[in-house]
Amino acid sequence: MRISGASASHVGQVRSNNQDRALYSSSLGAVADGMGGHVGGEKAAAMAIAELSGVRGVLSSDRLIEVVQAANRRIFEAGMQPSLRGMGTTIVAASFDPVAGVMTLVNVGDSRGYLLRDGDLQQVTIDHSLVEDLIREGQITQDEARVHPQRNIVTRALGITPDVEVDAFALNMKSGDRLLLASDGLSNEVEPEAIAAILLRETDRFAACNRLVEASLEGGGRDNVTVVVIDVYDDQETEEAEVELAATGEHADSVLADIPRPRKRRFPLRATLLLVSVLVVLGGASAATVWYARGGYYADDSNGSVAIFRGRPGGVLWMKPSTEELTDVRVEELDGASQARLEQRPVWSNLEDARDFVRNFETIADTES
Ligand code: MN
Repeated sequence: MRISGASASHVGQVRSNNQDRALYSSSLGAVADGMGGHVGGEKAAAMAIAELSGVRGVLSSDRLIEVVQAANRRIFEAGMQPSLRGMGTTIVAASFDPVAGVMTLVNVGDSRGYLLRDGDLQQVTIDHSLVEDLIREGQITQDEARVHPQRNIVTRALGITPDVEVDAFALNMKSGDRLLLASDGLSNEVEPEAIAAILLRETDRFAACNRLVEASLEGGGRDNVTVVVIDVYDDQETEEAEVELAATGEHADSVLADIPRPRKRRFPLRATLLLVSVLVVLGGASAATVWYARGGYYADDSNGSVAIFRGRPGGVLWMKPSTEELTDVRVEELDGASQARLEQRPVWSNLEDARDFVRNFETIADTES
């Protein structure tokens, strides 16, 4: 068997920079959605993609997990730098073994892998996100999750902890299968039925990518959006014939293979003990803790400039604050009263209030004039 892929990415209608990154090479596809400040998010996503693009040949699922864990370690270490503090990224990656006909999908965070087979779209990966936890606990529905104010909060990401748990899925592929990797900028803006309809209608994979991005922009484009579409063929068959067959549902006689449960990577003992102790501390309130830890905004000194951070001063457990916005206001230029207010680091529940707090600062120059 063989695969062909395409990708597309767009900054969206609201954000000023694109912190998503995509990769498609002959046997590998990936999407990374970076987070943590203006520079950090892009950097983390680019580092994850660079780690994956550096590997050659067919990857076993164990090897793919190792590559993702190596990326995690690299991003975590780079994030020690103050200017990159708290940066992280999601990852979803798919690696194809043409001899076995097996696609291995791995994910960390809320970027997703979907399989389109015989006209049906199935989400293969499970999001590591606050809203996914709330759905599992029966507190909200899928539809509510898509508009939930905390839908962007992930509970797992690359670069946040020295070790990370990676979910892996092995899929036996059939000719005519189509795989979609996407950042949450797609799934938050476009209904699953609409995603499936586009993948069925647009048989050309480049057109499919572009149409998916357009649909996200039409849906509001509130986030960066990135997609990778991968088509699977038998060696003998032409691409066009295969995709058309799939699109018209003429593969209806074939049976959907069972999608195995995620294969959880075993932790080294030390990491397991650390995880256990963290879980004991969190108890049943992990989602609320993540919300508390990531829900606030405060201003602080970042390399001499005033910056707005997301999180709590000093962090909560392993969840460190991330830089949300850097300003060009120098701390040394603030008057005494403003510096004193800054040092108290009050936490605001939304970004706008934190910005107002910073806007009300006065500089020594202001006071003198
Ligand atoms: Mn996103």
